[in-house]
This record gives sequence, structure tokens and C-alpha cells, in this order.
Amino acid sequence: MAFNNTTPPTKSGTKRTLHQQSITPISEIAPRIAEAIKPFSIVCEATITAVHHDQGFLYDACTGCTKAVSKRGGSYWCYKCKELVDEPDIRLRIQFEIEDETAKQDITVFEEQAKKLLGKSLNDLLDLSAQENGKTLVNEALDQIVGKRLRFYIRISEFNLTNPDSPPTAQKFSEATEKEAKNPKQN
Ligand SMILES: [Zn+2]
Repeated sequence: MAFNNTTPPTKSGTKRTLHQQSITPISEIAPRIAEAIKPFSIVCEATITAVHHDQGFLYDACTGCTKAVSKRGGSYWCYKCKELVDEPDIRLRIQFEIEDETAKQDITVFEEQAKKLLGKSLNDLLDLSAQENGKTLVNEALDQIVGKRLRFYIRISEFNLTNPDSPPTAQKFSEATEKEAKNPKQN
């Protein structure tokens, strides 16, 4: 059986850059932001070490573009659409800390990705929070993700470049290639 020499026989030919994208150590994120002149994406492999409960699990979103709106008087303002939003949508968003062998980083995950990560929808969390000990139940649900080691596809946006302390967004995640890093704090 002869293979055509132009392509390696074991490769499917559909391999895309996604799989070839190299892993960036977290310690390199800040220096890269400092020297970047335009938005960029990176891939990190890290363990979730803490969920920021104080950030809650939802946000007020623009009904046009889904970006977060800020309260302005009795209404809300979308900086992207540059218009007032009377009744914003409520959308799922969580913020947490990840850590690899080099450093820690806060990141944000929205909607579908947050749902996939938590195994819970916005409505599930709203139901929990409506219960008597709602805050505890929600925090417990959020803490289920602590200890997971994943590969995060992180976008450093225009906003992150001008606000280097703001957590960038992980646009998606997948299984980590290394099973476990060195024990992420066992007490
Ligand atoms: Zn908008």
C-alpha cells in the first residue's frame, strides 16, 4: 500500500492552529500586556484556585451587544453602543483565579462557557440564591470548579490593554494536556 508522499499518513490533514498554539506561562501575561499595542490571544494551562464570590454570578448586559452596562441615573449606559439601556438583560458571568507553576491570574468567563464549566445555568443559580441559605448554596456551587486544571483560551482585549488590572476573558477552555500540576495547595 503506497501513501502519497505529500502528506504524512498519520495526520488527518484537518489539524488546525488551535492545537499547535503554544502554552503561555501566566508570569508572561503582564509583560506582554505592557508591551502590546493591539489585542491578542494566549493559551494557558492552569488550575482554578479560587472563585471570587464577591463578583457574584451575573451582570447587567446591554440588550444590543451583551456587554456589561453601567448604572447611570435611573438607567444604564452601554459604552460600546454609546446609548442608554432601560432594562438590561441579566447574564451569567463568573470571575476566578487560576494558577500555574509561574504565577496567578484573575480571569472572567461568560455565559455558555461559564455554564459548561459550572454545570449550572443562570436559572439554576438564581433558583439556589432564592432559597433561604441562598448565598451559601451559590458559593458552594461556584466552588465546585476549584481544583480543576484546564487549558484556557484567553483574550487580551483593548480594554485589558488600557486597564491592565482588569481580568481578561477566557473565551473557552478545554482539558489540560498535563493531568495535574504540582499539588495546588492541599490544605
Ligand atoms: Zn451595547
